[in-house]
Amino acid sequence: MNSITKVAVIGAGTMGSGIAQVAAQAGHQVVLFDSRREAVDRALADLRRTLDKLVEKGRSTAEQAHALLGRIAPANDLKELAGSGLVIEAIIEDLGIKKKVFADLEGILGADAVLATNTSSLSVTAIAAGCLKPERVIGLHFFNPAPLLPLVEVVPGLATDATLAPRMMTLMQAWGKVPVACKDTPGFIVNRVARPFYGEAIRIYEEGIADMPTIDAAMKSAGFRMGPFELMDLIGNDINFTVTRTVWEAFFYDPRYKPSFTQQRQVESGRLGRKSGRGYYNYADGAMPTFPAVDGAVAAPIVERILAMLINEAADALFWQVASASDIDLAMTKGVNYPKGLLAWADEQGAAHWLGVLERLQATYGEDRYRPSPLLRRAAATSGRLV
Ligand code: NAD
Repeated sequence: MNSITKVAVIGAGTMGSGIAQVAAQAGHQVVLFDSRREAVDRALADLRRTLDKLVEKGRSTAEQAHALLGRIAPANDLKELAGSGLVIEAIIEDLGIKKKVFADLEGILGADAVLATNTSSLSVTAIAAGCLKPERVIGLHFFNPAPLLPLVEVVPGLATDATLAPRMMTLMQAWGKVPVACKDTPGFIVNRVARPFYGEAIRIYEEGIADMPTIDAAMKSAGFRMGPFELMDLIGNDINFTVTRTVWEAFFYDPRYKPSFTQQRQVESGRLGRKSGRGYYNYADGAMPTFPAVDGAVAAPIVERILAMLINEAADALFWQVASASDIDLAMTKGVNYPKGLLAWADEQGAAHWLGVLERLQATYGEDRYRPSPLLRRAAATSGRLV
């Protein structure tokens, strides 16, 4: 697959519009389709404004911007996707609708075309199961905003041809992305490993150990760009709650991923975060949260508890061979901007230290939520290292 290949993107919302831009930037002719034509028009108008700003700032020439826009053609009908070598689907997160779109595409596309899904939470295997040729279906999971965040999780399903993931890794690299290979398991890498960043922070708040600004300030003092509560407000509490719930259900209700009432009540009350003017913090009239200066003695136990849970999750993803150690660390730094890879971070103090933190939590609460990963136990008993 080279830059001459025509790429089709289905769904011109948040993700599809960004992915179309990335593919066009890489030199492909792109066809953008949405069941609502106005979504395509809006995506193209937004892209034009973004490119104009880049030209104003001298980060692109007017010719480059014009050429890029010229490479993206709107489509009014799925049939116009004929001749595409790669289709990336970024439509509504609904298994039945995605399966139907993929089945329809099979009647339109050539035999060699690759069908990719940008799903965050559905199984790639399940989406592919509706296809006559599931071997050409793969997950390409971009992060929001797609033009800015480099990570792409490349996720083959059970029936995907073994050569397709390496081909897509090469293509994503050619697009300037950082691809990581990942098993078709709930949340892939990032949406699984990141769960405790939110869940454990809420738990610390619910127990009355610290208030939200203090927890956020503590995590920022450890190098995270945003604290858990301000980040949930940015993502949207409805979206974050849905991901939490979906991952918990997909793991057959493993207590480690159990959602919280605190977050559920936020959603029920319409406090969705920045987009609704109120979330964990108040954003009315352009207000932004402020954070206290936290003393090291206050921050340390908060950071240690959340980090121990994150490290445990990363170790468990490695234990279950969801991805390699280097890809797990790359995913968290390139997909969600963590200051360091969690496995490498764990090795700074050694596995025994983190095992101790988790064992103390488990002894205190008597909950399976805090069970240490077998890999953490093994590392603590041997080299002390996870990487
Ligand atoms: P969105 O709501 O912004 O856009 C979805 C678009 O798909 C809409 O414009 C809608 O009109 C269109 N659509 C719906 N059904 C369609 C159909 N049958 N045929 C053609 N178009 C159809 O959604 P989004 O946030 O861009 O998410 C899209 C996909 O990307 C989902 O699978 C989501 O899980 C995944 N994803 C989202 C994010 C994120 O942060 N938003 C990140 C990674 C992956």
